[in-house]
Amino acid sequence: MMKAARLHAIGDFRVDEVSIPQPQGKQLLMRIGACGICGSDIPRVFELGTSKQKYPLVLGHEFGGEIVKVGNQADLALVGKHGAIFPCIPCRFCPPCLSGNYAMCLDYDYLGSRSDGGFAEYCLIPSSWHFVESHNVQTTDEALSMVEPCTVAQHAVRRGDLRAGYSVLIFGAGPIGIMAARWAHIFGAGTIALVDVVEDKISFAKQHGQICLHGGKEDVNAAFRALNQGRPADIVIEGTGTQAALNQAIDCVRTFGTIVMLGNPHKDTTIQLGCHSSILRKELNLVGVWNSHYFDLPINEWVYTVKMIDEKKMMVEDLVTHRCGIDELPQLFDDIYEKKVSICKALYSAEVGR
Ligand SMILES: [Zn+2]
Ligand SMILES: [Zn+2]
Repeated sequence: MMKAARLHAIGDFRVDEVSIPQPQGKQLLMRIGACGICGSDIPRVFELGTSKQKYPLVLGHEFGGEIVKVGNQADLALVGKHGAIFPCIPCRFCPPCLSGNYAMCLDYDYLGSRSDGGFAEYCLIPSSWHFVESHNVQTTDEALSMVEPCTVAQHAVRRGDLRAGYSVLIFGAGPIGIMAARWAHIFGAGTIALVDVVEDKISFAKQHGQICLHGGKEDVNAAFRALNQGRPADIVIEGTGTQAALNQAIDCVRTFGTIVMLGNPHKDTTIQLGCHSSILRKELNLVGVWNSHYFDLPINEWVYTVKMIDEKKMMVEDLVTHRCGIDELPQLFDDIYEKKVSICKALYSAEVGR
């Protein structure tokens, strides 16, 4: 038997004793080392439920761990390997799938939101195709659990078509914003700054090596130019999904610049008249971001994230502010939902309470 944190209904998230799944055929069994709490998990538990209202369901889609068992058609050599899991289970037949754009699949399954995921001691993985192996024994499972959000951050920077020396302004100083800033640095950006309106996030970002402006107290456009030899930003990554930030992003970007729309919106967005005109007047590029790219052409962004973490060129673990064992997970969800704790990244770690 194993423990698994399952959603039984909206608001009913608890730890159950269930049997350990057994891998068949091409399936792998992963012992979960760590599984991150995604921003999307909080409304999933308290407001929305699972995407197909399927219950009970083990949540958690940001996880890493060790392969401990494989089905009879899977490679036995995978046993003992650590890695991250690409949680999307695409149909493989729709046009996006046939062109290698699995994250855009029209009919997908998903570990942790549609099928059982990583908030458990073990998780069944459909096949080795989902497994992104780490090649450094020093890379921890906690770091591997950060691969999913870290790859989303990388994808946003790639979508911005960052060139060496370009300046980047990022709205939203949560874990993805900070990791986007780190990718921008790796990709050769010049001035890089974050913006937030929450004091705790601003001070956390500053303590973790970033320049972070206060969107409520500072004139962001002027403050960024002061950092950037008087120039507006070449690329703005909008990571909050709010109308205030989108309008500021339009204001802060240069002529022919790019705005990367990364943050999920939760209500209607109004673009102010002057900003709407600026999109035309500055001939801006507005690009959307949806997840990440998991295919070798042009590059598998997941494999690249793990490689950069393995080589210690991308740092992720220092962003973990809260970790708990499986039994404490429902309580941590409550505390986050009720805003009793201020988190950067919170995760379930099998190490805690073991
Ligand atoms: Zn996520
Ligand atoms: Zn598909």
